[in-house]
Amino acid sequence: MIKTEKLSMLFTTEEVQTKALNEVTLHVEQGEFVAIMGPSGCGKSTLLNILGTLDSPTSGSYFFEGKQVDKMNENQLTALRKNNLGFIFQSFNLIDELTVYENVELPLVYMGIKTAQRKEKVNKVLEKVNLLYRANHYPQQLSGGQQQRVAIARAVVSNPKLILADEPTGNLDSKNGREVMELLSELNREGTTVIMVTHSQHDSTYAHRVLHLFDGELVKDLVNKL
Ligand code: ADP
Ligand code: MG
Repeated sequence: MIKTEKLSMLFTTEEVQTKALNEVTLHVEQGEFVAIMGPSGCGKSTLLNILGTLDSPTSGSYFFEGKQVDKMNENQLTALRKNNLGFIFQSFNLIDELTVYENVELPLVYMGIKTAQRKEKVNKVLEKVNLLYRANHYPQQLSGGQQQRVAIARAVVSNPKLILADEPTGNLDSKNGREVMELLSELNREGTTVIMVTHSQHDSTYAHRVLHLFDGELVKDLVNKL
């Protein structure tokens, strides 16, 4: 599904140059659950953002389902994101002024899906994350774990092939963290490919494979014994 060849990312700010990624070559097969680990500042988010087409690499190439992403124009990138990718962030990134229902509905509005069909999809996915009974609440009225489950619902409502999660349990206590991991695991078992950045050894045990980054380099690529 994903292949990168010698991806490098150089950030230049006020005479300081940071090599956030150094020739990272990797592949991810459809249906895999891959964790990315490594110390703070080693390039995990940079790599995830490039895989999510939110950023483009300084050099190297990136293929998604055989198509060369680093050669795509903005319209092609938007289409790729809209039709294939779902994002989950550490800080949930929900819109406080919208209800749970409206937050989850938003990607479908952007996709131009009709009201009746939106309703069916949103209700179904809210049921899946056990939050249908909170549909008319606002994010601030929910616990952190519930907010992250709303964010997951929003990420998967359009049925993406790939979920990219950047420290999805980073702001959660262990019980809520476990619920979020169980949910990601379930989505993966149902066929969605998952790539997740995590600091947590425990969370990484949900993955099939763990990529270790250090100073922007891929230093280890280990298959988990499940
Ligand atoms: P991680 O997610 O592993 O903590 P990041 O990918 O966020 O690490 O960052 C890797 C390195 O690149 C860090 O040294 C960070 O300071 C630097 N970096 C990340 N984003 C930017 C940016 N937009 N501008 C300048 N430097 C950046
Ligand atoms: Mg990060």
